[in-house]
Amino acid sequence: MNPPSLESPFENARKQMLDAADIAGFSKNTVKKLLEPERVLKSNLVVEMDDGDVRSFPSFRSQHSSARGPYKGGIRFHPGVTEDEVMALSVWMSMKTAVLDLPLGGGKGGVVVDPSKLSQTELERLSRAYVARFFRYLGPGTDVPAPDVNTNPKIMAWMVDEYSRLAGKWTPGAFTGKPLSAGGSKGRDRATAQGAFFVLSEFLAEEGQSLQGKTVAVEGAGNAGLTMIGILHAAGAKVVAVSDSGGAAHLAEGFDDQILARLKKERKSVSEYPGAKKIGADELLELDVDILVPAALENRLTATNAPKVRAKLVLELANGPTTPEADAILFKRGIPVIPDILANAGGVTVSYFEQAQNDSNFHWTAEEVAVKLESRMRSATRDVVDKAREHGRELRMGAFVLAMGRIIAAMDARGW
Ligand code: GLU
Repeated sequence: MNPPSLESPFENARKQMLDAADIAGFSKNTVKKLLEPERVLKSNLVVEMDDGDVRSFPSFRSQHSSARGPYKGGIRFHPGVTEDEVMALSVWMSMKTAVLDLPLGGGKGGVVVDPSKLSQTELERLSRAYVARFFRYLGPGTDVPAPDVNTNPKIMAWMVDEYSRLAGKWTPGAFTGKPLSAGGSKGRDRATAQGAFFVLSEFLAEEGQSLQGKTVAVEGAGNAGLTMIGILHAAGAKVVAVSDSGGAAHLAEGFDDQILARLKKERKSVSEYPGAKKIGADELLELDVDILVPAALENRLTATNAPKVRAKLVLELANGPTTPEADAILFKRGIPVIPDILANAGGVTVSYFEQAQNDSNFHWTAEEVAVKLESRMRSATRDVVDKAREHGRELRMGAFVLAMGRIIAAMDARGW
């Protein structure tokens, strides 16, 4: 077992920006403006529990950059949320929207809570309290939240309803990742994994490879992880290892996503999969597979385990799973890491489509969404690969140089 990482995700995000600035030769003073979020909001949300007791939940919203448009990014509900983490995640959102060339900035929110311990009514009161507390800093042209770890369309529906109630008018563009029945977009629920699949297949095609017969380990069976397993399975890859907060398991013949989904529905861990062998959570990261997909939380690949990674390629479905030290080690070892700010950007891309549909009060078909997502993900992949090659550096640096160049151009144009 690797010791728990004490690294600060925000320090990691800053290091990534500084490294990219060095590589590209961006002006030091301009880069300084990106090293801190423009605004960080924090509050204790006081919520009445079903038994009449009152509890307080620390909560945050970090608004990193609005140079290219309104702050954009999810809200996570997790007991491990910290201000530092939310700040880092907001930086990565600014980079992500810029890599995809979306007219949006970056923000992120979080509440320190284990939502599995709350009833539905408690969860609703907490969700509404978040919006009520931060109301004046949110809105379609200001800051547009979306789902993230442990938040979902149902929570977005409560949030957009609370926002609209306070605004005195239906304001669907204030939140994305809403249910279809409340102004959501077709394809948003699968968008993160679908986008990652387009990125992966574009990357493999560049190398003259395909997914057929490739073995994959997926760390984290949340919404994105589970959807990804189904997509990989359909594309002929074999997912031989999977994990969630309840444990990890290995199965040489490959996991069936339908059976995994059933286990999750029954609130069981994927490690209870019939016939699979239980393995250690950290062991999963070091398996001899073709592709490793971290799809859980930050700081999973570190200086300690990066030398032991045996995968030939890492695809980051999670945000921030690889520390800068691990990045350097994997780069030296010739293991490409397709970075989060490209690999998981399908979610925010369809969020942007959702906003566009809300603005025009018009629904797109599932095909329209898929076609537009595919072309944006594939072209962003080529842009990132080209930038990385141009500088002879890892893909993450290619993505950061591309994103920061676009953000800085907007700052310059606006006279910041
Ligand atoms: N939470 C997702 C992310 O990390 C989606 C954000 C969004 O749609 O705004 O990219």
